[in-house]
Amino acid sequence: MLPGLIIRSSSIHAAGCYTSRPIKKGVRVCEYDGPRMSKAEADARYEDRLVTYLFACGNDLVIDGFGTAMFFNHCCDPNCETEQDEKGRVFISSMRDIAAGEELTYEYNLHDSDEDSQDCYCGAAICRTTMFSDLELKRRARIARRKAAANVAAKTR
Ligand SMILES: [Zn+2]
Repeated sequence: MLPGLIIRSSSIHAAGCYTSRPIKKGVRVCEYDGPRMSKAEADARYEDRLVTYLFACGNDLVIDGFGTAMFFNHCCDPNCETEQDEKGRVFISSMRDIAAGEELTYEYNLHDSDEDSQDCYCGAAICRTTMFSDLELKRRARIARRKAAANVAAKTR
């Protein structure tokens, strides 16, 4: 983890991770570390929990995050991105030069969520108003269309 990262209250959501020093583009800022488990295990463990810090990596694997990485908020115009190395370790890296005092964020690209919505309040000029990934939005639109078609079919019967 880079020196100079601090956790403090965020204008985006709850607490966030800030840097007290400038960070150059392309630097590994922090590892998204924690126990690895299957999605089913994570679902069972966090059934009744509202807030989880699960990072999906690979087909049926999530990282149950702990430490600094879990304080990184989502932003639709992020300054960091996540990358996975060949050993399956996940790092949060800077996408651009970041000034001292900036909050560090990455694009969550949420999918496979049980929630009806995951509204975004990041405040970026290009905010997509949701933390779902584009693929997840398409998947949900498909399901909604199918449901609508089924409703029409039911009514005309
Ligand atoms: Zn947003």
